[in-house]
Amino acid sequence: EAKKNGRGRYQVFAGDMDDLLLRKRKVEAELRKALTGGDGIKLAYQPVFSIDGRRILGAEALIRWGHEVHSALPAAQFIAIAEERGLIGDLGKWALTEACRFAVGTELPWIAVNISPLQLRDAGFAGQVAAILSETGLDPARLQLETTESVLLEHNDTINSVIAALRKSGIRIVLDDFGTGYSSLSYLRRHAIDKLKIDRSFIRLLDEDKSAAAIAKALIELALALKVEVTAEGVETDEQKALLVSMGCHQLQGYLLSPPLEPGQLLALPGLSSSVPERSAARA
Ligand code: C2E
Ligand code: MG
Ligand code: MG
Ligand code: MG
Repeated sequence: EAKKNGRGRYQVFAGDMDDLLLRKRKVEAELRKALTGGDGIKLAYQPVFSIDGRRILGAEALIRWGHEVHSALPAAQFIAIAEERGLIGDLGKWALTEACRFAVGTELPWIAVNISPLQLRDAGFAGQVAAILSETGLDPARLQLETTESVLLEHNDTINSVIAALRKSGIRIVLDDFGTGYSSLSYLRRHAIDKLKIDRSFIRLLDEDKSAAAIAKALIELALALKVEVTAEGVETDEQKALLVSMGCHQLQGYLLSPPLEPGQLLALPGLSSSVPERSAARA
């Protein structure tokens, strides 16, 4: 009886694995098509605000699966598939080009693009970014690249020199989801970083959980002591905002202020406009 149950369970598990593989292959095929056709994927833009919530300081580009069938597929999931299937280089290049092209004709002070750790391991990455900037005409000082802590834990010469080259050209490097990785803080001394983004998991519990609040406060103080900018991501309530103000945080991002928006919606926000009818903006 127990054996039968066990085998039954195993078969269910095997079935799930097949489903997962099938799903991954489907997503991979769709992604390849989207990357060559330039259709099927798009970017949403979530504004980042000054601590008083009044000024838009910049915006973060977030990839969206445009296909209706896959509209429920979260960004993190198909980014993971793209990484696994060797497509992240092309996908990352597409996102960077699209975001720069969009930002250049707008009054956005800066645009932030998420970068996979795999992209930073490519010795040619800094050159690729420089080519995209000159092709789109975006000032490097208006580009921020967000990556996660995992990248900096690797004692990897390629990553180090890629980050150094990017920063030398005026691009700013942001540590995303700060506090969730193996925060071996020594990398903050080894690498020059321009901004820390405190992970949503700490912000979410800010007004309920004393230890989450203590950690958020410590992370903000760390940023202040290192003289780097600090953003809180995933701010959803007025209480969280008030606490972040009292802790000295610089920048806020989250549903309380604005969800990720279509390009046209972003430019319709007060204080932002587009000087040139950009391709991306016109399409929205
Ligand atoms: P992330 O860079 O940490 O982005 C923040 C995520 O939180 C986004 O999810 C955003 O939509 C969501 N978010 C923003 N404000 C709130 C809030 O107030 N509450 C809640 N619950 N969520 C909020 P999204 O768009 O699903 O992206 C997930 C992750 O996928 C990103 O995390 C990023 O790591 C990755 N990603 C997105 N676009 C790209 C890309 O172009 N390239 C790479 N390599 N990764 C990307
Ligand atoms: Mg990010
Ligand atoms: Mg983040
Ligand atoms: Mg995140």
